Amino acid sequence: MNEYLDGISRGNRVVLAKALTLIESTLEVDRTEATKLLGKLKPVIKDTIRIGITGVPGVGKSSFIESFGNMLTKQNKKVAVLTVDPTSQLSKGSILGDKTRMENLSKNPAAFIRPSPSGGALGGTTLRTRESILLCEAAGFDVILVETVGVGQSEIAVKGMVDFFLLLILAGAGDALQGIKRGIMEMADGLVITKADGDNKKKSAEARAEYQQALQLFRTDESGWSPPVLTCSALEHIGMEEIWKMILSYKEKTSKNNFWKLNRQRQSVNWFHEYVEQGMMTEIQQSPRIGKLIQKLELEVIQNNQLPVLAAEKLLAAFRRKLSST
Ligand code: GDP
Repeated sequence: MNEYLDGISRGNRVVLAKALTLIESTLEVDRTEATKLLGKLKPVIKDTIRIGITGVPGVGKSSFIESFGNMLTKQNKKVAVLTVDPTSQLSKGSILGDKTRMENLSKNPAAFIRPSPSGGALGGTTLRTRESILLCEAAGFDVILVETVGVGQSEIAVKGMVDFFLLLILAGAGDALQGIKRGIMEMADGLVITKADGDNKKKSAEARAEYQQALQLFRTDESGWSPPVLTCSALEHIGMEEIWKMILSYKEKTSKNNFWKLNRQRQSVNWFHEYVEQGMMTEIQQSPRIGKLIQKLELEVIQNNQLPVLAAEKLLAAFRRKLSST
């Protein structure tokens, strides 16, 4: 434990990687250690920025993170990159992990890249990623980039753990093709059109104007912030400073109106609730008697012999009895 704490406080990347492995482990003995470790970490007083990055596969996420991350480290920032990839279990090979990604950034001594833990439900992965963010911050990283594949629920999960949510889009690919749901656009604090270089430059500028107009139809967020639309080229390293300036300006504005702090407070409370929910479910599932009852009730529901609501009530009643008898 002391080795972990000492290594992390000194920003030792090998120790940090080991601690993250401990956190990702689902073994009960490791979970106990991991919780102990998190409890002993000194509260981070440093100002950190957590940025979520999403977009469909091929939009240029890893290229963007490479260029953006290297730009930040030139400004003496330490950058950690975490990924949330719930597809890794389904496809057996992760979309994000099937190629050498961010090769350049991974060699940068001021950067730390951690691929998505493989396997596990999204809920579990999300909780682990949140803990990983805390560890990286304790190890002295200033900017935490959380990357997610743009394929559904993982965006909502990542939005719930970051300060700024960035949506990357391709010009001219069509919203339907990119699977951009209105909901994802509404979640974004900033949109960036990628690959704005060469023949694509003009199309990107047009797309920028179109998206900016479309965003005006959305109501202003509680944060008081209207999401800008920018363009960039990771290939030519263009537009990265503007994107960073946008994020800093978001931070300044929402720090003044207190939304920055409020958002983090809400996220912490949600985190707490998620832990409790997951813990309760484990508790229920691990009791043999209740496990059997679940199976029996599921069968009754399938056979239409029981309304789902009544089945749930029965199960909860059994759980209450179990609680009062212990
Ligand atoms: P990801 O799947 O979203 O992580 O996308 P990648 O970063 O792997 O990029 C997908 C493809 O787009 C690769 O072939 C990249 O070389 C290319 N690409 C990424 N960024 C740029 C860019 O700024 N300009 C151009 N022209 N191509 C890019």
